[in-house]
Amino acid sequence: MSDDTKHWRLVKTIAENEQITSVVIAPPEGEAAATAERMRHRKPGQFASLRVMTNTGWSEPHPFTISCDTDSEEVCFTIKKSGEFTASLRDLAPGTPVRCEGPFGTFCADISEHHDVVLIAGGVGITPFLSVLRNFRVHESGHRVTLFWSNRTLADAFAADELAEMTRGLDLVVVHCITREDPPASSTPRVHFEKGRFGRQLLQKYAPNPSAAFYLCGPPAMQEAVLQELSSCGIAPDAVQKEAFVYGGNRGGGDKSGSGSGRKNGASGPAGGGGSAA
Ligand SMILES: Cc1cc2nc3c(=O)[nH]c(=O)nc-3n(C[C@H](O)[C@H](O)[C@H](O)COP(=O)(O)OP(=O)(O)OC[C@H]3O[C@@H](n4cnc5c(N)ncnc54)[C@H](O)[C@@H]3O)c2cc1C
Repeated sequence: MSDDTKHWRLVKTIAENEQITSVVIAPPEGEAAATAERMRHRKPGQFASLRVMTNTGWSEPHPFTISCDTDSEEVCFTIKKSGEFTASLRDLAPGTPVRCEGPFGTFCADISEHHDVVLIAGGVGITPFLSVLRNFRVHESGHRVTLFWSNRTLADAFAADELAEMTRGLDLVVVHCITREDPPASSTPRVHFEKGRFGRQLLQKYAPNPSAAFYLCGPPAMQEAVLQELSSCGIAPDAVQKEAFVYGGNRGGGDKSGSGSGRKNGASGPAGGGGSAA
């Protein structure tokens, strides 16, 4: 195994629910800390490429959005179990060496320029918005934010308590769209539970300002459906910034660094996956 001080290392993993694990890593120490300098200048919504040391050497790189605020020295990623790599993360031992490259991407880069913001997330697509909102909380931002978060069940909405807490300090309304079970009644004034998918009626009910800035992160099929709904309210797909968590035509084990296709449209991100550091 290589010199541990040269690499990021795993601080801890947090089981958010059965499927979702947060992974916290700390930067290298001493002179090697220069390698982490770029990460200190990260913006909310950006992602990094992670590799972990295994018994057989370094894993392949995988892209994950940074889910913590941008001020913390330790960096957190919130990751859904999808295949072999993501399933292995929860059991990693503290101290495991990690290679972390980034930050990459431009999703949400302009978000602080907009006073009225609508965030629409599907499942683990909440991660860039967690970073945005955690940042807003740290900086006591006055942005008006409406967050629509779609999940199958309330148990899938792993950050629901933290988001509810945020509505007390931020100008934030959270709308949970629960698709596979009856949602509970809300006990928090600016947290709402709706049965079913996001649609124009919910938009008109909770975020009727069409000149708000729209950001969307979720699986491709969900994005398509959401864009149609937005379109029916006069919001053009091109006016919506998007992130899809998909990459590459090469699913056969090639590049998983996030440099394939499927990154956002709109602003100046590198084609597919945002492979350039900001
Ligand atoms: C810019 C970016 C940011 C991301 N941020 C996050 C994040 O914050 N949290 C998170 O949980 N995930 C995120 N992802 C997705 C994450 O990179 C993948 O889920 C992970 O690399 C899958 O690794 P694996 O080996 O566990 O699964 P694999 O074994 O690679 O895949 C398991 C199965 O799912 C399919 N699959 C998995 N991931 C993808 C994908 N991204 N595109 C297309 N098919 C896929 C595979 O074809 C296979 O069938 C992000 C992806 C990108 C491009």
